[in-house]
Parts: sequence; structure tokens; C-alpha cells
Amino acid sequence: MKELLFDKKHICVAVSKTKPVSAIKKIYDLGHRDFGENKVQELISKQEEMPKDIKWHMIGHLQSNKVKKVLPLTYLIHSVDSFKLIKTIDKESKKLNIKSNILMQLNISGEERKYGFSFKDAQFVIDENFKKEFSNIRLKGFMGMATYTDDKEIIINQFNRLNQFYNKNKYKIKSIEILSMGMSNDYKIALECGSNMIRIGSKIFGERNYL
Ligand SMILES: *Cc1c(COP(=O)(O)O)cnc(C)c1O
Repeated sequence: MKELLFDKKHICVAVSKTKPVSAIKKIYDLGHRDFGENKVQELISKQEEMPKDIKWHMIGHLQSNKVKKVLPLTYLIHSVDSFKLIKTIDKESKKLNIKSNILMQLNISGEERKYGFSFKDAQFVIDENFKKEFSNIRLKGFMGMATYTDDKEIIINQFNRLNQFYNKNKYKIKSIEILSMGMSNDYKIALECGSNMIRIGSKIFGERNYL
């Protein structure tokens, strides 16, 4: 597990959703500082209880009306999945006089019930808007979740496509440097496909009872 947490070639976000503060503390005491949550309320209550040098990553779907609360507490939002959300984050960041770090989430599995931009829409937003408009957002890169399957080929194809998208846009926007892909079941494949940030829950904290 320490290898997973402290390998210098990538950043590991320890996904602590549904897990108690005591479990987070154990990983914190090993020296780890990047933790991920997928619900705003849970992130807020854990943030209040835990040391202030933790970098909190918001990895779950974020509703616009909760942006204001979560912005001052988060180091990076991985799950920015709509143009409306981008606009809200920019507006609220202006009010707080901060610059917020975001990743655009791409729906790489193509499943309809999954959140995220299509590649086409994401490219449009980047080309039409990002270069000039959002003065209080720093676009740091992209996040994607592959189909949950044993078929390695499917996963490789989806990760490769996101990696290509990342590499293409890295040259357009200077702040882009993060490619967040890979979870407990597929992080090895993700790292082979160019990921530099993995989000690991069950492999660190054990299985969850619910998602
Ligand atoms: C829960 C979750 C993870 C971690 O999942 P594991 O399979 O437990 O590693 C990673 N990313 C997102 C967006 C999640 O919701």
C-alpha cells in the first residue's frame, strides 16, 4: 500500500468516502496528504475534524448550489462535468477572490448514466471559452472513469483516448498538467496509459458497504 501512496511518479488520491475520520487519520499519520470525497457534506464534516494541511479532492458529481460551500475547502475538483458548473465555479471564485483548480470530467465509457463531457463538447468549451473567459479558474487537466469490466482492451482503449485528448490540449493551455484516471481495479492499466493521478479507495481503506 505504501508503494501506491508514495510512488513519486504519480499522485495517489486516497478516496476516503464512507470511511470514518479514524481511518483517514491512519493514512494521514503515514505522511499522506491527498484525500478524495464524493459528497459535499461528508467532505465538509471531515475537513472540520482533520488537520488543515490535507489536500481535499472533490471527485463526485457537484451540484451548482453547493459550489460556494465546497470551493474554499478543496484543493482540486475532479468532477467538473458541465459548462454550467464551470460558469458557477468561476463566478463563486470571483466572489471569494480565489482561483480554483479544476479538472474537466470526460465520459470516456460512453455510458449514458455516467456524468461527464463528451470529447466533442469538452473540446468546444476549451477552444471557445477557456483561453479568454474564466479568469478565476485554473484548468489543470482531465478526469475519466473507464467501464467496470474484466476486458482489458476496453479499458485500455478508453484510457488511451483520454490520454490523447490530454496531450493535445496540454499544448493549448499552459495550466494543464494532470491526468486523473485509474481506480483500485484498473489503476495499473491507467498508469500504463499515461495517468499521473490515481484515485484509490478500496485498495487503501478496504471494501465499502455502499457507494
Ligand atoms: C469511489 C471512487 C473512486 C475509488 O474507487 P475504488 O474502486 O474504491 O478505488 C475513484 N474515483 C471516483 C470518482 C470514485 O467515486
